[in-house]
Amino acid sequence: MRVLITGGAGFIGSHLCEQLVGRGDKVFVLDDLSTGRFENIEHLTDVETVIDTCLNQEVVRDMVREVDVVYHLAATVGVQLVVDEPIRTIVNNIRGTEVVLEETCRYRRRLLLTSTSEVYGKGSKAVFGEDDDRVIGPTSRHRWCYAASKAIDEFLALAYWHEKRHPVAIVRLFNTVGPRQMGRYGMVIPNFVQQALNNEPITVFGDGQQSRCFTSVLDVVPALVKIMDDTSICGDVFNVGSKMRASMEELAKMIIERTGSKSEITFIPYDQAYGPGYEDMRHREPCLEKINKAIGYEPQYTLEQILDGVIEEMRGQEA
Ligand code: UDP
Repeated sequence: MRVLITGGAGFIGSHLCEQLVGRGDKVFVLDDLSTGRFENIEHLTDVETVIDTCLNQEVVRDMVREVDVVYHLAATVGVQLVVDEPIRTIVNNIRGTEVVLEETCRYRRRLLLTSTSEVYGKGSKAVFGEDDDRVIGPTSRHRWCYAASKAIDEFLALAYWHEKRHPVAIVRLFNTVGPRQMGRYGMVIPNFVQQALNNEPITVFGDGQQSRCFTSVLDVVPALVKIMDDTSICGDVFNVGSKMRASMEELAKMIIERTGSKSEITFIPYDQAYGPGYEDMRHREPCLEKINKAIGYEPQYTLEQILDGVIEEMRGQEA
């Protein structure tokens, strides 16, 4: 199979490259190296990479024509980046996906679109199911532009299926973590681990009682491939995540313990962390019944294993 991965040099994209190359696929990557890094895939010598953005429609068209299927992962991600650069977030995420949809539809190439659990917004449900209502904050709070842009992507992809029978599938990823994820754009686990390894204060935002369910990238990637491979799945949305819920305070404690760090926990108000008017979501846990039924998905990695993997990688980088 010939495969295009947009965002293939990123954290999740590079793990996807590895899996597909490993099973003998011919992989092409389109990545503008904005948050991705070529180092993530340079060990994969058979991968052909074009350094450009999905906003460049001619390049997308040329690449899509050469492949059988497309995984669209390229996006502006990371809460810090979204808050700092909302124009870039909105334009890249909406226009980039529009281009990929136009070109994959033109050549009728099956498309898997990666969306996010952020689309559920700040709803107070204990567990989020794919058809639940979304609760998004006001447009004056930049954080929500990410959720809104990804929701538009989903609307558009589903419209392409509905109106043109363009074969697309959508996954909503819940806090995917693992090796190669960078803390630079806000993601909590690489940040906490780096702070712990440096014996610096662990910066827990808010009261630390907000919780997330963390998923190993090594569970996420096989799920993406299974959904892509099952061509009967079209015009549908799936949560991909885990039920391993931890509060940020618990997470900080686990990381201190597992690294043997001397770090202390320090609580930082949200407006100090992200600027005035920031809104966080309290808890976020996926319902996994739909994905389980569709492809037999069950995450294998425990939070402890995920953390140990990240700690080991970051220790290696220091050595
Ligand atoms: N967070 C934190 N300290 C940090 C970075 C993040 O306490 O240094 C918190 C953040 O406010 C949020 C949670 O960790 O409540 C998860 O943040 P992340 O950006 O990793 O993912 P998302 O907000 O998209 O779930």
